Amino acid sequence: MSNTKTMTTAAGAPVPENQHSLSAGLRGPLLLQDVHLIEKLAHFARERIPERVVHAKGSGAYGTLTITNDISKYSKADVFKKGTQTELFLRFSTVAGEKGSADTERDPRGFAIKFYTKQGNWDLVGNNTPVFFERDPLKFSDFIHSQKRDPRTGYKNATRMWDYWQFAPEALHQITILFSDRGTPDGYRFMNGYGSHTYSLINSKNERFWVKFHFKTLQGIKNLSAQKAQELAGSDPDYAGRDLFEAIERKDFPRWAVKVQIMPETDANTYKVNPFDLTKIWSHKDYPLIDVGVMELNRNPENYFAEVEQAAFSPGNVVPGIGFSPDKMLQARIFSYPDAQRYRLGVNYQFLPVNRAFSEVNTYHRDGAMRFDTNYGRQDNYEPNGFGGPTQKAEFAEPPLKIDGDADRFNSHLGNDDFSQAGDLYRLLNTEERDRLTTNLANAMKGVPAAIVRANLQHFHKCDPEYGESIARKVGVSL
Ligand code: NDP
Repeated sequence: MSNTKTMTTAAGAPVPENQHSLSAGLRGPLLLQDVHLIEKLAHFARERIPERVVHAKGSGAYGTLTITNDISKYSKADVFKKGTQTELFLRFSTVAGEKGSADTERDPRGFAIKFYTKQGNWDLVGNNTPVFFERDPLKFSDFIHSQKRDPRTGYKNATRMWDYWQFAPEALHQITILFSDRGTPDGYRFMNGYGSHTYSLINSKNERFWVKFHFKTLQGIKNLSAQKAQELAGSDPDYAGRDLFEAIERKDFPRWAVKVQIMPETDANTYKVNPFDLTKIWSHKDYPLIDVGVMELNRNPENYFAEVEQAAFSPGNVVPGIGFSPDKMLQARIFSYPDAQRYRLGVNYQFLPVNRAFSEVNTYHRDGAMRFDTNYGRQDNYEPNGFGGPTQKAEFAEPPLKIDGDADRFNSHLGNDDFSQAGDLYRLLNTEERDRLTTNLANAMKGVPAAIVRANLQHFHKCDPEYGESIARKVGVSL
């Protein structure tokens, strides 16, 4: 007998034979009583869980957030106390491609962080862009459908993309980032992350501030040329994941400076743009970046499926001192993310090791598929109860948020400037960067009917006449 461990079935029984099936005679058919064979086939057929509809292809790592600056005047959150170090898990991803797609596609990159704080998990589910294509979640599935596969052919189709965008000028700001050099970052280490949404911070006096989170790469920004990104998509589709994994293995730990922009609560009523509109940034000149700390990734997962694929994030996971905002997209994601995870992983997904809070979890939820812990044993499952079960604590309540206006379906295009900030970004780029941006856009419009191209060019022209004219020239369509 060898001194390796004994191989077993899933029920723990020793496996005497793992090379040859049990058959009736040398040439004979197989026997149904070969439970080891049946278990292998059946488990294999169930190895895949539904992949995420968006952000399917990802890579992740563990690390720490270290707070170097005192921001207690804005937030009472334990995680922000100066000197605090909090463990975290970060999952990077591309958005539109399937689980087997290439890492270097032109696409926003997901930047989802789970902070295992002493007061429960805080998830900041952001991107490498400070804005998004949409500001109303009612349009989210339409937008994603237009970017994904044609229902008839199963192929991606640029006409559908630009057809959708001709009706969605709110996407221009994000489109400008996407087709700029930052649309093809050189892996995951050389790009910034952004919480993107406006959240709130609440201090110990129960005062509310609006906040935007920024993660500035300390490796410096590095992007791939459009050509290199395309080459890598063929030659090394796992380029970004491998780069991250190998850097961490050789202890070249990637780091990001963590910063916030802070807006006093009442400024929201008077700021020049709606601060809860996910297609807009807050200018740094108006709300300068404030240092918070440093984030470092320093440990690779041991098992991709258990830790990266089963990692489940929700912007609904906040902790005392951090709260939501009226941002409509955020409001929808607070519902949608846990909804997707319950479907993808099952109702008890928060108890999986990578998702489980480090702090004590005391809920009255019980049972459900795959309840693989003790299910709170003999503890009673209703509240209030007279047996000393966990109770609510009013000290964690947020200050009330003033809301006014009529309940209605408001047209967010009316009186909204969808062009200036995209134009600001265009004007911020140097001549070569503008040239690459407009070339990338013109290339992406190849084969799209002229009427659709023209409608889109009108939008780019409104951002900056030179922007629209330059694309028009390259795509060969008159404005
Ligand atoms: P600032 O000049 O203060 O900030 C410009 C920002 O643009 C910097 O954060 C810079 O990031 C970033 N940037 C540079 N090149 C690109 C690119 N190709 N794609 C995306 N971002 C880039 O100006 P404002 O704050 O007034 O903003 C002006 C414009 O800058 C905005 O309309 C917006 O498009 C863009 N921007 C603004 C951000 C914000 O939060 N205010 C954040 C990111 C972009 P870095 O420091 O890493 O070079």
